[in-house]
This record gives sequence, structure tokens and C-alpha cells, in this order.
Amino acid sequence: DDLMGWNNLVANTAYLKAQHIDRNELRKQWLNLTLPRPMKSTAVRTAAGGQYESLCEQQPIGRKLFQQFLLSSNLQYVVAAQFMEELSGWSFAENEAREKVKQSILTKLWQPESRGIVSYLKGDSAERCKTLSNKYIDEAIMDKIKEATRDFLKGKPFSEYLKSAFFYRFLQWKEYEMQKISDKYFYEFRTLGKGGFGEVCAVQVKHTGQMYACKKLEKKHLKKKGGERMALLEKRILEKVNSLFIVNLVYAYSNKTHLCLVMDLMNGGDLKFHIYELGERGIRMDRVVHYVAQITTGILHLHSMNIVYRDMKPENVLLDNKGQCRLSDLGLAVELTKGKMICQKAGTTGYMAPEVLKQEYYRTSVDWWALGCSIYEMVAARLPFKDFREKVQKEEVTRRTLEDDCKFQHKRFDAPTKDIISQLLRRRVEQRLGCCGDDPRNHVFFKSINFHRLEAGLVEPPWVPKSNMVYTKDMDKFRNISQVQDIELEDKDEQFYTEFSTGAVSIHWQKEMIDSGVFDQLNKSTQNGHDCATGWK
Ligand code: ADP
Ligand code: MG
Ligand code: MG
Repeated sequence: DDLMGWNNLVANTAYLKAQHIDRNELRKQWLNLTLPRPMKSTAVRTAAGGQYESLCEQQPIGRKLFQQFLLSSNLQYVVAAQFMEELSGWSFAENEAREKVKQSILTKLWQPESRGIVSYLKGDSAERCKTLSNKYIDEAIMDKIKEATRDFLKGKPFSEYLKSAFFYRFLQWKEYEMQKISDKYFYEFRTLGKGGFGEVCAVQVKHTGQMYACKKLEKKHLKKKGGERMALLEKRILEKVNSLFIVNLVYAYSNKTHLCLVMDLMNGGDLKFHIYELGERGIRMDRVVHYVAQITTGILHLHSMNIVYRDMKPENVLLDNKGQCRLSDLGLAVELTKGKMICQKAGTTGYMAPEVLKQEYYRTSVDWWALGCSIYEMVAARLPFKDFREKVQKEEVTRRTLEDDCKFQHKRFDAPTKDIISQLLRRRVEQRLGCCGDDPRNHVFFKSINFHRLEAGLVEPPWVPKSNMVYTKDMDKFRNISQVQDIELEDKDEQFYTEFSTGAVSIHWQKEMIDSGVFDQLNKSTQNGHDCATGWK
């Protein structure tokens, strides 16, 4: 027992220490790094994509290099680049910051260099801008300036960029991005959680110091349970979604024994841990409202892509080090094909909606029911139809879900909370909140939330995890996953593993390179070399 405690302490210490890495030590390693030449030129070019949106806006490194290209060109391009930078912050800026952007745009607007960019601003609106100034620069005019600038950049500047040394540099980065990923790419730390097909542990990218969580799915286990298709689906859905409120997938790779999903490290723990394992049970009301607002936004994002989550429960909502939460575990998620419904029974006992239990056809409604159960649980530290640690048959939970009323006995339930839960727990789908074209975000429960700023990541979380604490159970408290013996892997399984192991996910990998400083470092050091001057032929 003592030894267990000791092992846990050592593992925690290593894990916490890794998160406060010495950046100077890392920088020394970067001196030996150089960017590869874009050898796989066609593959790289295909991966790079040919569209302005993808190359110059969505991909973070592409965006940076295009900016650098513009800033190193003529004055007109410099002004256009500045417009774009300033306008991208405009929509979320408030009061003073907003005034500043306006002023800055206004002064630039009448420089001779701006003429070719915003030439549409003739006649009426131009006069208005000029004479009446500030007061008349409203949302619509800002949008017009933004569109005009974008149209301008998409033309000549973009085609010049594609022939420039900056784009050659971009292709070098793409080549680097497409490297094969293996276990050697990471250091591994303690187990953070366990799931159906294996464990989730903390990992760190060796050359950037970036921490992630790695969900390892055991190949034999998957094969035995027929979980391969689902693993691939989880991976595909994860890499497709891009929301502040859903965990990002950054790498997908495999080794001899496991398929690995490398995701954002959520080191603040899951909400189940926060409800039951930290002293007084349940979560403070202001925190509940904040988390539910983020969860709701995440669910709406999935639904907007016609994805049903199907595993909404506190255990699958994770907090990051700042105290913001994201949905994780998309292992049960399915994509709805147009007009089709599903009737497969899936979910977790206690959170499943009546239509699932009755094996009727359903669509996104099941997520709103499960959200109702989850809000209830965050407040009362039990489920509406199942008490905490109650030993009860599934059939009985089903019966209660279909027949009993939801009771609000806990003293912390206030009127808006009871109301939103009741509306989410309506048995008839047509009457349930979120299911009839209504927007759950308009409910009074959310009156303190500004969703526009929440979605931009600008709302401070009401509670921040301690940086020296590990928010998960001690390692020996996780149940062990039974070893699979009687399964052999065959050649035909390989194709599926290859399909799964696509390596780095562009947007997030590029962000890692920029945030860690590797991008700036390599850009500096290669600029002095000959590669950059070669240009792309
Ligand atoms: P399963 O599909 O088997 O339920 P999950 O994806 O839910 O697996 O992961 C199991 C547990 O591992 C979670 O409940 C959580 O505690 C932990 N975990 C999962 N993903 C992360 C992450 N990105 N960061 C930190 N911990 C995680
Ligand atoms: Mg899970
Ligand atoms: Mg799962």
C-alpha cells in the first residue's frame, strides 16, 4: 500500500513538473532542427490545398506566412494586411478597444494606398465616411471594408504569394507536418483515466514541450469487441469538429499494440470527479451555469454538423487548466444522413432518453434529455432517476425514466434551474427544449451569460484549477482492463490501422508549432540559409 502511494507521488510529480518546462533548454535543441525540402511535392501540394481560405486564413502557419509576404511587399499590400489584422479583432472587441480599431481603420482608409483596396467605397458611403467620420462607421461599413479587403487579397496578392519564397517555405512546413508519428515523438506520463478499450495518459511532445492526453485503444480489444469501425468514426468526427467546447484531436497514430488519439490535455479533471470526489458533493451554481453554457454551445455545434453526441454525461465533460470545459469521448457519436433517423440503443444507464429506451427512432433530441440529467446531477450529486451509488437494475431505471416524475428535493435547486431541467426532461420530443426549433440559449437559466463572448473564449471561468494538483483518482484506483488473449491480428487488419493513422491534424499541429516558438525559430534560421531563396518552381 505504501509503495502504491509512493508510485503515485512520483508519477504525479513527474507529470506536474513536465507542465512547467524550462523553455530555454528546449530552445537549445531547436538549433539543430532544419525544415525539410518539399520532396513529396504533389502530395504536399494536395495536402496544402489550393484555396485562399484554407491556405491564407484557416491554416495558422499559412496565415502567418501570407502575412509576412504582404508585409515584405509594397505599401498597398502592407495596408491590406493591416486592415485584415485589425478587422479580425473588431467583432469581439468591446467599447474602448472597438473605438481604437475604428480610429485606426478610419485614418488608414484615406491614405492613397487604400484606394485600390476599398475602391468600392465610392459615392455615398465614401462621402459619409469622409465628412461625418466616426459616427457613421458602423457594423455594416466595417463588414464592407473587410469583404473588399478580402476580395483584393484573393486576387493579385494571392497569386503572387503562390510564386513567392514564402509559399515555398509553407510547403516545407507542410512536408514537416506530414512526417510519420510514432511513440518516439512523445514522452509518456501517468494515467489520467480509463475507458472501455484502454487507458488515457498524459504525454509530451519531445521537441516542443507541448502536453497532450493520449487515448490508447488496444487493437486486440477492439478486434474482439468489433469496435474498429467505431474507433475510426470517433477519430473522423474528432478531426472534423473545430469548436472551443469540444476536445481537439492533434495526432492520430498507431504502434504495434494500440491505436492512439492524441488530444488536448484537460488537466482540470472531468465533471464527475468534481461532483463526487472533492469534499462537499455537487458543483457551485455559478460554475454549473458556466459549464452548461459551454456544453450547450458544444452540443449545438455538433448538431449543426448533423452529429448526435449520444454520450452526454458529466464524466465526459473535461476541464482544462484555466477552468474552461469541453466535451470529449465522441466514441458513441453518429453522423445523421439526411432525413434518416436512428433507433440503435446507445448511451449510459441513467442518461438515456425515453425514445432510446423504447427503441424508437430518434435524432438529436437524446442529447438534450441527457443534458437535463447532467444538470440535475451537477446540482444534486445524483441522477433524476437513480440515486448516487444506488444498486438498481437497468430495467428499474428504465421504468422510472418512462413513468416517474422528476423530483427536486435538493435545497440548491432554484426556479430557473428547475425550469430548464423540467423542459429538457419532457418525455415527448415535440415538447422538449432544444427539439422544436427553439434555442436553449434563450432560457432564463443563462441570463448571466453573453454567448457571443463565450464563443470567442472571452468569458473568464468562475473557478480555476490549482496548478499543483492532479484532478483525477490515484492510479491504483482505476479498475484494470482485462487482457485479451485469444485474438490474433492479421494482415487484413492492417488496412484499417493505416486508415486510422493519419498523423498530425493540420490546424492544431501548426498552432503547436507557433505557440511553442518552433515556428519563429526555424523561420529565422532557415531565412539565412539558401532554401528560402530557391523559390518554388
Ligand atoms: P471511453 O470512451 O472509454 O469512455 P474516454 O474518452 O471517456 O474513454 O476517456 C476515459 C477517461 O479518461 C475520461 O473519463 C477522463 O477522465 C480521461 N480523459 C479522457 N480524455 C482526456 C483528456 N483529453 N484529458 C484528460 N483526461 C482525459
Ligand atoms: Mg467516457
Ligand atoms: Mg467512449
